[in-house]
Amino acid sequence: MIQGQSLVSLVTSYSFLNSTTLQITFPNTLPQNVNDSLRVYYQGIPINDGFGSFGLGTNSCTNNKVMWTLSEPYGARNWWPCKQTLDDKADSLDVIVTCPVPYRAAANGLLVTETTNPNNTKTYRWKHRYPIPAYLVAFAIADYQTYSNYVPVSGNPPIEVLNYVYQCNTTAATQTPNIIPIMQFFINKLGEYPYSNEKYGHAQCNFGGGMEHSTMSFMGSFSKFLMAHELAHQWFGDKITCGSWQDIWLNEGFATYMEGLTCEQGIGDNFWKDWKSGKISNVTSYNTGSTYVTDTTNVGNIFSNVLVYNKGALILHMLRWKLGDQVFFDGLHDYINDPQLSYNFAKSPDFKAVMEAASGINLTEFFNDWLYGQGFPNYNIQWSKDVNCNKVYVTITQTHSANQGIFFEMPVALRFTNGTVSDTIVFDQNSPLTTTFNHQLSFNPTSVSFDPDKWLCAKAVVTQVAFNNQRHIVWTGAQDNNWHNAANWDCGIPTALDDVTITDGTNACIIYNGNTADCKSLKVENSGSLTTQPHATLNIHN
Ligand SMILES: [Zn+2]
Repeated sequence: MIQGQSLVSLVTSYSFLNSTTLQITFPNTLPQNVNDSLRVYYQGIPINDGFGSFGLGTNSCTNNKVMWTLSEPYGARNWWPCKQTLDDKADSLDVIVTCPVPYRAAANGLLVTETTNPNNTKTYRWKHRYPIPAYLVAFAIADYQTYSNYVPVSGNPPIEVLNYVYQCNTTAATQTPNIIPIMQFFINKLGEYPYSNEKYGHAQCNFGGGMEHSTMSFMGSFSKFLMAHELAHQWFGDKITCGSWQDIWLNEGFATYMEGLTCEQGIGDNFWKDWKSGKISNVTSYNTGSTYVTDTTNVGNIFSNVLVYNKGALILHMLRWKLGDQVFFDGLHDYINDPQLSYNFAKSPDFKAVMEAASGINLTEFFNDWLYGQGFPNYNIQWSKDVNCNKVYVTITQTHSANQGIFFEMPVALRFTNGTVSDTIVFDQNSPLTTTFNHQLSFNPTSVSFDPDKWLCAKAVVTQVAFNNQRHIVWTGAQDNNWHNAANWDCGIPTALDDVTITDGTNACIIYNGNTADCKSLKVENSGSLTTQPHATLNIHN
């Protein structure tokens, strides 16, 4: 039965377009730009699909029942009449639940009234006044104990974290305060907690992970990782919601990366380096598949731990590597506070556009390779050293794990060490044609490690090869302009085997009267200059 409120008329003309879509025909035409309302009366026992869209269980303390909803991605319509889309948010919400004493109901927003009824029941009325998509609307019922933690926020009132936990859960009270430094860190990085007029909260349920319902995450347990993940979703997922399930990495990859950042801050559940290594080794165990979800009919695809959560997080990590910390975090802050996207929806091109604006860099290639494309690079790195001047020669080639010919343009870091001194050199491999690099060190290296700070989602094989005496000698022009003065070169006077570059911005290079000079190849950069005096000879041997 459906009733048009202000028309105060009973709508009897409705039908189901299909098994999940209700079509209502109004008795009168509604005027444009006038608000109206509609009530849908419905009842029944919800079907339970997806991850368990309508869960029932018992809590281990009292053996009393527990009931919870978990609508993401397609389960909201199983238990309430809603517009189950990713292009429209309800602007506000009230959840009213009546249940027997001693049960309590947890839901989105603020608990505004708790009314005792004559029949030994209570009615809980929750009120949420922020835009919310259907899948984040939720309630849970159990005979909870409740308590609050408070997060001090500089210049603002503290944020309440309202915890609904099972009676016998005595560890939760020692765990939930860990949310305090985590929330302070997120606020510091991302800006204000998105629901600061209301609260944040946790409600315990009988499932393994957590679910980030706006202002009230449902939790199977209270590890720092899980609390950080669901809290991060209040920004990434709830404040800005993915505009399609294909773009779910904008929720899950981001929340996963925020977990990692708590490790970097020393307030998480793992060491930062171990967190990064763990994600890289997990993602590079699978050669194919893309983070952008191509088939969203399968819930398992949408929530792929490897591709969406972990590779999604590593995509952000690599974007940070490419752009640098300042630009990356400024861009992330711009994104989450973007007036067009805040409390609204975003798709991957929206995030890309914000990061391009923040960096001034075209990121089409990056997103095509890493987000829409499959797999990762397998690097083959060969290095040799010229001990005369501690110059190292590096050849970097890559193949594509998914064999689709994608070339990943990335900065590649190598750490050279002699056991006591080390130096990390970043080689920008920005084209398949760019394979050879060299760099002069201040010591004689004995070993090399690939990507020592764990920036790249990649595998690598590093091999030292014999130095073949084909050197790359660079003119530094330090004194007297003379080709034949070793002090003017970075690695001695060139021979017939050497590639030579006369660099930009250096003194002129002169082969003086009567002298003969040799090299294999010669490159004179823009403002570099080479003069051959009368009776001087330059032999280029290539
Ligand atoms: Zn998540």
